[in-house]
Amino acid sequence: MFWDQLSSKQIQALDKNIPVLLNIAAVEQHGAHLPVATDRMIGEYFSGLLNKELEDKVLILPIAAIGCSDHHMGFSGTLSLSHNTFAALVKDIIQSVLHHGFYNIILLNSHGGNQGIMQVIVEQLGFANPNAHIVGATWWTIAKEELLKITETGFGGTGHACEFETSLMKVIAPQLIHDDLIQMGANVSAFPQSDGDMLFGSKVSFYRTMKEMTPNGVFGNPVQSSAEKGILIGKAVIKALKQLVLDMYHLSDRQYIK
Ligand SMILES: [Zn+2]
Repeated sequence: MFWDQLSSKQIQALDKNIPVLLNIAAVEQHGAHLPVATDRMIGEYFSGLLNKELEDKVLILPIAAIGCSDHHMGFSGTLSLSHNTFAALVKDIIQSVLHHGFYNIILLNSHGGNQGIMQVIVEQLGFANPNAHIVGATWWTIAKEELLKITETGFGGTGHACEFETSLMKVIAPQLIHDDLIQMGANVSAFPQSDGDMLFGSKVSFYRTMKEMTPNGVFGNPVQSSAEKGILIGKAVIKALKQLVLDMYHLSDRQYIK
């Protein structure tokens, strides 16, 4: 169900153990071939599929479309919130949800630049609301095992406007893709410990702007993208998200591991 399509009275009548999902995304450059809405559209695609699968077992909030994209500001079209503004926005939305009695919360992240602050938000909301269950899930992390079976590009192939994101967009909005402008990411290595991608995280955190990482704005290999792969990625992510939502129903009676 979508939160904003229900009436206040309908929301009030809901069982409050239903997991409430907020997609946090980004509006930022995605190379020359993808629209700046890519992360938002991918998040909405997953939310829509999840809604079809679970119907009244999940409640989906209006998307937080703009995220933390300061590192992309060297490219036109990027919109960015500071970490403080973004954290305040997300926490205020979730506090409103908690105020109405819900306590199972999932932040579904579809943007790499939101990962650090999402962890902080989970910790702050969790500390402030000891009776709530706050989960942060990034789509390529939660489905990592399945996604490793789908990727064909090896280390450095998935990252940004890459094999995965371009494959998904070939399913979601092929009319917005500039096929003639698809090109390999200009992946620039800083030093080995800082190299990584969506599936193989780096050993250390190291700040670089996207312009420094990739002058063409692409990180990874969109040349090997396909709509078929996009369908498989969607299925893998939805399988993992569905399990997460269903597992949240049992968090209150969880057994502690000794
Ligand atoms: Zn993206």
